[in-house]
Amino acid sequence: QPATVGQAVIPLVNRLQDIMARLDGEAAAGVELPQVAAIGGQSSGKSSVLEALVGRDFLPRGPEICTRRPLVLQLVRHSAPEEWGEFLHAPGRRFDDFEHIKREIQSETDKEAGGNKGVSDKQIRLKIFSPNVIDITLVDLPGITRVPVGDQPSDIESRIRTMIMQYIKHPSCIILAVSPANADLANSDALQLARLGDPDGSRTIGVITKLDIMDRGTDARNFLLGNVIPLKLGYVGIVNRSQEDINFNRSIKDALAFEEKFFSTLPAYHGLSQCCGVPQLAKKLNMILLKHITDMLPGLKSRINAQLVAVAKEHAAYGDTAESTAGQGVKLLNILGKYCEAFSSMVEGKNKVSTDQ
Ligand code: GDP
Ligand code: MG
Repeated sequence: QPATVGQAVIPLVNRLQDIMARLDGEAAAGVELPQVAAIGGQSSGKSSVLEALVGRDFLPRGPEICTRRPLVLQLVRHSAPEEWGEFLHAPGRRFDDFEHIKREIQSETDKEAGGNKGVSDKQIRLKIFSPNVIDITLVDLPGITRVPVGDQPSDIESRIRTMIMQYIKHPSCIILAVSPANADLANSDALQLARLGDPDGSRTIGVITKLDIMDRGTDARNFLLGNVIPLKLGYVGIVNRSQEDINFNRSIKDALAFEEKFFSTLPAYHGLSQCCGVPQLAKKLNMILLKHITDMLPGLKSRINAQLVAVAKEHAAYGDTAESTAGQGVKLLNILGKYCEAFSSMVEGKNKVSTDQ
């Protein structure tokens, strides 16, 4: 089972959701996890990165413009072993075959944006039900292009930039700023836009793809270390599948094994294991989600407490001493708080090692 987004926080999120399920609507509102949006230039590898994080093949990828409408991908955790997809535009129709999901995305894209490279800001909404995910939303966005091709309007670049900003300006959106390693980072569309959407860089992760096809004699070590463009949350280097791998249907599992071998054999990446590979990106995202949950706890506690007081009053009026569900909620939250603390100190300990290297 490859490391996918959210896996390490699944038990935490489950407990949180258990607690919230016991509460009345109002106290439970606003415990949503942040959205994660992948942005960057066309063909920088955004769809490939999101797919690797989900651990399944289902997104159209390729050397030309493939993602032409925003794809809002809601991961929904369930307990059954099966995985399937369902589109908002086709309610009740269950897609068990992920190859069909890909085809449906393509035909829905053509329907709205035309068959000739047109781009539309109308979302495609897809839910993926799986036992291996947490309830989180990933957004795959069209890449930034400069020169209009096919049916694209002359102002295609500014249209796409505006579309991307709509998503990344939200203070809770986590930005995966995807830049290919075979171009200069200083020219990165992703980092430039991320800076506009997130000026203090507190929710931008730099993702550097295509490390395997850099010019001979060059490597991405300085990019990854933040020596070229510093980023608070740092960078992760990735090796996705090449177009040839896609044409030959190479699996995600094989791709992850190849990536691991790549990083372990190239001397340039020695000592950088913390910022190399899809599993590390998943881990980084998990840490951010964990921090988000931890930050949410005090607010939740006070809302639960308020409900507890209200419920206690009601019970007193009836002469009832039974423990309320809100009271149980507070107890559970306390446990959860301790769990978060232990988890973050564990993680901080690990991070210290990495900065010492
Ligand atoms: P997007 O347009 O940003 O969504 O990029 P895609 O994920 O569709 O990838 C564009 C093309 O680049 C595809 O042909 C991928 O196979 C290729 N590609 C993406 N990442 C990598 C990588 O890390 N290494 C190699 N060799 N090719 C990659
Ligand atoms: Mg794409």
